[in-house]
Amino acid sequence: MFGQMMQQPLLISSLIVHAERHHGDREIVSRRVEGDIHRTTYKEVASRSRRMAKALAALGVKPGDRVATLAWNGYRHMELYFAVSGSGAVLHTVNPRLHPDQITYIADHAEDQVLFFDMTFLPLIQAIAGRTKTIRHFVAMTDRAHLPADAKVPGLLCYEDLVDAQDDRYDWPSFDENTASSLCYTSGTTGNPKGVLYSHRSTMLHTMSAALPDGLDCSAADVVLPVVPMFHVNAWGIVYVGPMTGAKLVFPGAGLDGKSLYELFEAEGVTLSAGVPTVWQGLLGYVEANGLKFSTMRRSAIGGSACPPAMIRKFLNDYGVQVIHAWGMTEMSPIGTAASFKAKHAAMGQEDRFAVMATQGRAVFGVDMKIVGEDGRDLPWDGEASGDLLVRGPWIISSYFKNEGGDPLKDGWFPTGDVAKINADGYMIITDRSKDVIKSGGEWIGSIDLENIAMAHPAVAMAACIAARHPKWDERPLLVVVKKPGAEVTREELIAFYDGKIAKWWTPDDVVFVDAIPLGATGKMQKIKLREQFKEHQLPSA
Ligand code: AMP
Repeated sequence: MFGQMMQQPLLISSLIVHAERHHGDREIVSRRVEGDIHRTTYKEVASRSRRMAKALAALGVKPGDRVATLAWNGYRHMELYFAVSGSGAVLHTVNPRLHPDQITYIADHAEDQVLFFDMTFLPLIQAIAGRTKTIRHFVAMTDRAHLPADAKVPGLLCYEDLVDAQDDRYDWPSFDENTASSLCYTSGTTGNPKGVLYSHRSTMLHTMSAALPDGLDCSAADVVLPVVPMFHVNAWGIVYVGPMTGAKLVFPGAGLDGKSLYELFEAEGVTLSAGVPTVWQGLLGYVEANGLKFSTMRRSAIGGSACPPAMIRKFLNDYGVQVIHAWGMTEMSPIGTAASFKAKHAAMGQEDRFAVMATQGRAVFGVDMKIVGEDGRDLPWDGEASGDLLVRGPWIISSYFKNEGGDPLKDGWFPTGDVAKINADGYMIITDRSKDVIKSGGEWIGSIDLENIAMAHPAVAMAACIAARHPKWDERPLLVVVKKPGAEVTREELIAFYDGKIAKWWTPDDVVFVDAIPLGATGKMQKIKLREQFKEHQLPSA
């Protein structure tokens, strides 16, 4: 017997329809790349999204086509989130910090048809425009007045011209909720980046859970500033949580330094923010140096890499801001766990409460997790045993775009590549990650790419790239090299060897020469041992 309730697919367009009807006058504030602070509302964003949906159709974008963005957090980017996905096309958010070669690879792999970009990225567009295979239109996300006369991009279009050419009489189409909505590439540990293809259903379910009190804890009374970029896992879902709850959204654009962020926090009355630990280091440094306080901020979601307990303490003790330590990944839309208290913690002393806050938290509803030992058997949730962390749920990947890399699942569970402990109350603690990628300022650096370049040098016999601790960027690449017998090469020559081959910030900070790199039974380099050996290594940049 079936239930007798309405059948309505879970579609992303319903979020902006809801926000327009119920929170139409709620503000969306953006620091623009044009330099000013721009103010709009959900009503206006909804109207302009419909106009942009019509403009996309006029450009020949069909359901399922991929439409790419290279853009900061801002209202035009938000409009594209709804115009593209809402009309049945797929929003492909591209990380502008990648090397032009990688961006070209990703755009070709995704078969992007149109690419929207912020003016900051014009030089990047000029570098890739003649090389990408499928992009028919490049659209500058600005108005005509801010478009240079000779942008040197063939067939360049202007965002505001596209919006102006349409009215907003448009009905969002209805379709199967399992339809793809957006695409985000993750660097992975080996080979080329792989695409994670979200659906309307997965996004809507993730949004509902993310907004819950034990998730991001977001409501209509909040003013939310996502520092986490909209090109990285949909800004952890905040672009969807905003319209679902009616929270005011504040977008920082390219102004991610402590001063610019602090000014926006204060001027707009931000109550909740979200970002990686490195961003908060910059912000706290600025606030401390200038003897400032947060007058409205109450909660700050921190994740992407482990949040240092000292930061959690400082936020609470010095500024009255509660950190929500969260864990997730691109393959998980991204939220998996978030640290919030249970009733039993109310009676605990402050130190014990800090220990709870420092964990990566409990699984949000919808995410199931388990840890397993080397033999694949479940490990106990005793806060002691640590093993590979596996997850499953309706917003967790089942296969990569175009089935790249084959079936990633193990008996229906997704192996996260992280190693964790879980305590009896269900709080998870990441102890390590089995992946060898290096995380600099919250962004992945692929160690294999760096090794491949080093291995191309005539004097290098073997190279391993590992993460070395860095006070500002958390981790920076350290290259460990075995020279070929009789060959000579210096640290400086090897570092210079990376010039022009990768994005500059991927270049290793330092090189050390060793007689041998430890190998495992199957001939693989044992980077865990190397990391142990060089854990005290002082980087010259540190
Ligand atoms: P990404 O797909 O780029 O978002 O990276 C996901 C990975 O970041 C996870 O698999 C973890 O290794 C790491 N990560 C994310 N959040 C945390 C956290 N709170 N603590 C430790 N590692 C984290």
